[in-house]
Amino acid sequence: MRILLAEDDPDLSRQLKQALSDADYAVDHAADGEEAHFLGDTEPYDAVILDLGLPKVDGVSVLERWRRDGKQIPVLILTARGSWSEKVAGFDAGADDYLTKPFHTEELLARLRALLRRSAGHAAATLSCGGLRLDPRAARASVNGEPLRLTSLEYRLMHYLMMHQGRVISRTELVEHLYDQDFDRDSNTIEVFVGRVRKKIGPDRIETVRGLGYRLIPLEGEAESA
Ligand code: CA
Repeated sequence: MRILLAEDDPDLSRQLKQALSDADYAVDHAADGEEAHFLGDTEPYDAVILDLGLPKVDGVSVLERWRRDGKQIPVLILTARGSWSEKVAGFDAGADDYLTKPFHTEELLARLRALLRRSAGHAAATLSCGGLRLDPRAARASVNGEPLRLTSLEYRLMHYLMMHQGRVISRTELVEHLYDQDFDRDSNTIEVFVGRVRKKIGPDRIETVRGLGYRLIPLEGEAESA
């Protein structure tokens, strides 16, 4: 999952970027509204954390422009304490959730998880697909109850496939949602990661759809565990 963090406070930005990376998200950072708008306009993020008090272009205007252009990306806004009118303006501009500064990083991460699963059509906090389970709270996955040892990128791949299970996902889409913009992107490496994950979860779980991409499928006849 790839997140855009639009925040101008350097200390808070550093802290949040670290926390998001530690939670195995790919993160791009924008320090002003102009850059935030450009990145959100050109890159397919899974969610945006948007400070409303941004230099150059304020957060509400950035959000209004995205929504006017039909961008449906989930947006969590960060507002100043005591400013109820800012929250109202943010929601009216198309925000999905908000947090008032100062906040606990854990709460931000929890709200982000909720936003991501709602936008992908999942209600439960833990994702499951056949005997595969993935818990974004702990950034852990298991197969038939056995914990999986995944690298950060393998985990991101699993997370994205589990979020969009049953759908064919192209290599380009995976590249765009697994790596941040500074990463040396190469869609051939996706094949390598898929191969490694297959070794860990079983060869039949990720189907290769020739010329189109990959699809995560539940095992034939397997009951969904609670
Ligand atoms: Ca600010």
